[in-house]
Amino acid sequence: MKLCLTEGMRAALPVLNLLQNQGYEAVFVGGAVRDLLLERPVNDIDIATSARPEEVMKLFPKCIPTGLQHGTVTVLLEGASYEITTFRREAAYEHYRKPSEVSFIRDLDGDLLRRDFTMNAMAAQADGTLYDPYQGRGDLLAKKLRCVGAAETRFQEDALRMLRAIRFIGSYRLTPALSAWRALRKHRPLLKFIAMERVEAELSKMLESDETLRGLTWLAASRLLEHTKEPIFDRKSLSKLLYWQRRRAYPYRKRDGDIEANRFAMLNELSQGEDKLVCMILLLELDESATIRIAEALRFSKGRKAFLLSVWRIHESMLKTNGEAEEALNERWRECVLRFGEEACLVWLRLFPIVKGKIDTETSEYSIGRFGSMLEQMPIKQLKELNVNGSELSNFLGRPAGPWMKALLQTLLRMAASGRLPNEKIALLTFAEKWNEQKQGEDNDE
Ligand code: ATP
Ligand code: MG
Repeated sequence: MKLCLTEGMRAALPVLNLLQNQGYEAVFVGGAVRDLLLERPVNDIDIATSARPEEVMKLFPKCIPTGLQHGTVTVLLEGASYEITTFRREAAYEHYRKPSEVSFIRDLDGDLLRRDFTMNAMAAQADGTLYDPYQGRGDLLAKKLRCVGAAETRFQEDALRMLRAIRFIGSYRLTPALSAWRALRKHRPLLKFIAMERVEAELSKMLESDETLRGLTWLAASRLLEHTKEPIFDRKSLSKLLYWQRRRAYPYRKRDGDIEANRFAMLNELSQGEDKLVCMILLLELDESATIRIAEALRFSKGRKAFLLSVWRIHESMLKTNGEAEEALNERWRECVLRFGEEACLVWLRLFPIVKGKIDTETSEYSIGRFGSMLEQMPIKQLKELNVNGSELSNFLGRPAGPWMKALLQTLLRMAASGRLPNEKIALLTFAEKWNEQKQGEDNDE
């Protein structure tokens, strides 16, 4: 069978041709071939070759020895980069993740044999001819995820493959071959050997996919997450996820679960992976410490963790608004913008129609529109936009810096953000003067 190479793959042909002209074998492999066959967008282009890494490096002046011990060299050509990996075999595996030794080989079949699933073990020649010794195409047509070789062995060699399996089952709308499913359920405790960074990478890809729900459904059914090195969700949340997906699959109307199950189903409508994660946390009504635990278990960077917590805190703060007078609500919202930032507020606004929480639907829908336009119209949203700074205040008032400065800046920020004071230097300084006199008066009284 001949495949029609994508533009990106055709741009890589000079790399394949040069290797072939030197007498080496060189083919496209892995995800690129799979996605080409499925007519999905091809992301990274991986090339496999019989040439040794040092031979590859000799041929291409612009290259980076990305992972020489695994045989990978990144070649740069006309603005694009290609990973070229020498055909290899992997010897015994250590710690259920890494091969203890890789040896370079000269034949393609051996290289394809080490790959995880049949759909990932296909190659395409430079002219587009498909090479598929393990019937990956047949499995894809039958929508089956099948391991190359014995599933039990393959998951025991590298336990990360179990999470990859769930990700592919979700995003490619597959079902696992019975052998793969049985092996996965049997060996899921091996997931405890996998670094949490790797777990995070797989979960993030799962959330990025258009088929998040399918992935999460299989993830819940596999119960893999009960076996990670560090717990991510508690048992109750995991069973809630499973329960929701069952209610989604078999909806019996008029049961409490349906509302939540339907909200859960709306996760697929969000376009960004990070939004989906935050949305899940809010839907599960996790408390602050459970949210922090997720961020820490998944090794979030400081910034990512702070952002997640900001959205969580906005939700927490806005949930308390039920029954409050309009102006108090507005004040609370402005406070969220100033404390947690515009970006986190925008995420919360995006998620709120799905999450809703305990707020009465009618008022909340009304409020959501209002909060959105309030945010847009706020004259300033952060301290650095204030038209006066600490040293100007200090000079103007003839007062050395001290705790008063922070209090005054915050007061000015709140006044300007709510429109009670124009964000203009003269107006701000005039207000500051009065504030200062009043404070000093109060201090003298004490
Ligand atoms: P994606 O679309 O997410 O990039 P991919 O299949 O291309 O999916 P990569 O991690 O880019 O995944 O790996 C490229 C190829 O390397 C895979 O298609 C597969 O053949 C092989 N591979 C990757 N990880 C493993 C693994 N853990 N075990 C065996 N083979 C693997
Ligand atoms: Mg890839």
